[in-house]
Amino acid sequence: MSQSLQAVRGMNDILPEEAAFWELFEDAIRSWLKGYGYRPIRMPIVEPTPLFKRAIGEVTDIVEKEMYSFIDGLNGEALTLRPEGTAGCVRAVIEHNLAARQTQRLYYMGQMFRHERPQKGRYRQFHQVGVETFGMSGPDIDAELILMGARLWDDLGLEGIELQLNSLGQPAERAEHRAALIAYFEQHQEHLDEDARRRLYTNPLRILDSKNPALQDICAAAPKLIDYLGDESLAHFAGVQQILRDAGLPFTINPRLVRGLDYYNLTVFEWVTDKLGAQGTVCAGGRYDGLVEQLGGKSTPACGFAMGVERLVALIRDAGGAPTEPAPDVYVVHQGEAAGRLAFRVAEGLRDQGLDVLLHCGGGSFKSQMKKADGSGAGFAVIIGDDEAATGEAQLKALRDSAWEQRKMNVDALAGAIIDHMVDAGEEE
Ligand code: ATP
Ligand code: MG
Repeated sequence: MSQSLQAVRGMNDILPEEAAFWELFEDAIRSWLKGYGYRPIRMPIVEPTPLFKRAIGEVTDIVEKEMYSFIDGLNGEALTLRPEGTAGCVRAVIEHNLAARQTQRLYYMGQMFRHERPQKGRYRQFHQVGVETFGMSGPDIDAELILMGARLWDDLGLEGIELQLNSLGQPAERAEHRAALIAYFEQHQEHLDEDARRRLYTNPLRILDSKNPALQDICAAAPKLIDYLGDESLAHFAGVQQILRDAGLPFTINPRLVRGLDYYNLTVFEWVTDKLGAQGTVCAGGRYDGLVEQLGGKSTPACGFAMGVERLVALIRDAGGAPTEPAPDVYVVHQGEAAGRLAFRVAEGLRDQGLDVLLHCGGGSFKSQMKKADGSGAGFAVIIGDDEAATGEAQLKALRDSAWEQRKMNVDALAGAIIDHMVDAGEEE
């Protein structure tokens, strides 16, 4: 026997029992987004590498060390498995001119890839639901995106997910703050770790995002960006907060919230829970007004967020609420050649009437097939032997209602009898 192969480290199979939770989540996501007028968009999983370098920034964790990049052996093109969705979404919006003379509210869901150290809540293939908006510059849309999150947690029955908020201002304000930050960290050079020293002159703001406990005190006392914001930026930030307060949504302003991607300006936010250990951020986003132009489009205000599906599904599982195991309405049991052929016709005919049908495949005695029928959770078994097949008939047996007497009938009458019983039992809406 040859050696069996395994999935790539950090890239997981989602088996049926777990996948049922994913489908529950995806159903909730779709109806929630519909409620806010968001429309689906689907981008490729592979994009040109330069897209991510330009969008996310060269001096970021993602671009420096987390991207799955490769050269297409057939044409030499530099390609990357998408580490996030915003860059590809913006590329698509530009390429198809979606934001010209109209606003857009878009969403997508799917795999993302980052070469990180796998651990609970952190994988190399993971999934995001991303929401992006284009063409709206006011604080109203920022607030809408945030309120959407609150509603989703509620829809999903999740408690204890808290909102952290900050404003990154505009590039000029950041430049001024940056200079102050460099001066400050220069004074504390000897306490910086290797990463921080390397970023000191390339991306000092990102030092504030460091997860190294030894840097927490220095970072806490560093110059705060909020003190460098001008009137317009402050007014935008105040506008967002006002709408959140009107809606009764509590939040914490976290001046150290800078986000790991370079493209943000003004509002940034994260939804955080303490129920997932170190990997507590379930949703993160903000405004990125400069990105469309930076990627070659016409200057267009934009903002959005992305949620980590694995982390949210883990929360849903921990909260209890198991999805109901799907059971077919009917299990079709058959033995003999003529019966087997009739069974196919019967199964398709029942499906034509809207019933969910499991057709027994793989042979076996009536007894073992009936066992499977029972185990499937089906309400009815349709039983066909060659005797029945000869007359175009079948036995119909209720599997969950012992008072209902087994009966033989023409196969054309099966659907009616089953549906009548379901209606009587109140199973059908
Ligand atoms: P972190 O600080 O945890 O690395 P990030 O800032 O890199 O997060 P974003 O790029 O903002 O994350 O992605 C949005 C969300 O996607 C995160 O809040 C998280 O829920 C999820 N996410 C990010 N990376 C991973 C991963 N490797 N595995 C699972 N989920 C992830
Ligand atoms: Mg990360």
